[in-house]
Amino acid sequence: MATAADSTSILICPACGAANRAPVSRALTEGKCGKCHAPLSANTPIEIDGDTLTRLIARDTGPFLLDVWAPWCGPCRMMAPSYDAAARRFGDRVRFFKLNSDQHQEAAGALNIRGIPTLIAWDGGQKIAQQAGAQSGEALLRWVVSVFKL
Ligand SMILES: [Zn+2]
Repeated sequence: MATAADSTSILICPACGAANRAPVSRALTEGKCGKCHAPLSANTPIEIDGDTLTRLIARDTGPFLLDVWAPWCGPCRMMAPSYDAAARRFGDRVRFFKLNSDQHQEAAGALNIRGIPTLIAWDGGQKIAQQAGAQSGEALLRWVVSVFKL
């Protein structure tokens, strides 16, 4: 895992899928895609599609979290405000993405998860944690802090 101030991460744009090189030391929310100028991170979760997820898993080397959810899933809806709150608090250091497993069934199926909601965390190009079931409030914030060592 890169920690030096001058090292860079490859960050996949959540809007167009382009690979961007960004200094590790810079707040993720300050980064914009060199191709489409969309923000690379936000203080709110960003919905992504299956193609973008495939690129993220294959090439991205920065920290990001994925919430796999579906509109009909009660626990998913219950967790959503807490996930929003976590993005508000940590969006400058971790990207918060959401994948609608109804709209992107193939990509969700490739993740080999048993149910939703499931949270999956990646950093340094590796999957670092996976958590099944809804987490809310402080429990979710604590989980994010411990997984990404914030
Ligand atoms: Zn872009």
